[in-house]
Amino acid sequence: SFRSRRGLPEKRKIRDVKKVVAVSSAKGGVGKSTVAVNLALSFARRGIRTGILDTDIFGPSIPTLLNLSGEPRLDENNCLVPLTNYGLKSMSMGYLLPQTQADSETGEVPMDTTPISWRGLMVTKAMHQLLHSVSWGPLDVLVLDLPPGTGDVQLTINQEIIIDGSVIVTTPQDIALRDAVRGFGMFQRMEVPVLGMVRNMAYFACPNCGHQTRIFSHGEGHGSNCEDHGVVAECKRLGVDFLGDIPLDAQVCEDADRGMPTVVAEESVERSARRQAFLSVA
Ligand code: ADP
Repeated sequence: SFRSRRGLPEKRKIRDVKKVVAVSSAKGGVGKSTVAVNLALSFARRGIRTGILDTDIFGPSIPTLLNLSGEPRLDENNCLVPLTNYGLKSMSMGYLLPQTQADSETGEVPMDTTPISWRGLMVTKAMHQLLHSVSWGPLDVLVLDLPPGTGDVQLTINQEIIIDGSVIVTTPQDIALRDAVRGFGMFQRMEVPVLGMVRNMAYFACPNCGHQTRIFSHGEGHGSNCEDHGVVAECKRLGVDFLGDIPLDAQVCEDADRGMPTVVAEESVERSARRQAFLSVA
């Protein structure tokens, strides 16, 4: 039986997966998916058997990031077979739900005519399938790309599967950091260990002269007191590891848009600082 004494469904371990690491952000747009996919690819590049599960219902981005699309096949046990690129297995809401895509010529987004109630049911069913019915095969690490926020969806996912650790992605801005602290509180309540925080868009690396500018400064990167405020200080206060900085870099965005994340795109570039940034976080 999957019922615990309190009547809640009992958490399950994902079959054939050793560790589940959730990548989260309290807010959208801080680069959570970009970081998640580059971390997963960094693991894969080290020979760690890795998969990535995209549970973002309203903005699944893993299909674009990995240049993958199409409906997954079902195996003989009725489990979804992951789609693979760059040696990374993936499963996404984006493969399961009909997505409303902009017309490539006019740019117009067609109206989603699916009735709301039906869509709700599809989402619930799809989420259940994503969490419990994917044939990952043996994996060392499954990176879970959580939807942004600290609400019900995150709680539900945590009630259904065992999450071994979490990584919080933030930007150096004060508001983003405050949200990140809220994210830390959520994982504490869920009793999921926080492995650390990643500071994305930490500085702007000028493509011409290489000069680094801390755009979202706010106490970080200002002379001697640079680590008195902000993400690093907050990590110290919370007793959480600071995992590293990722630069704000147009190439990171371009790589993401064309479906070849930086860790793969710059594999043969000997001294790619942006690629190294992702690798060292992993
Ligand atoms: P989230 O998952 O938090 O919503 P995304 O990973 O989708 O955020 O990133 C949002 C946008 O910012 C995307 O267009 C992405 O390419 C871009 N982006 C993310 N990180 C960086 C970075 N370090 N440098 C430049 N662009 C970035």
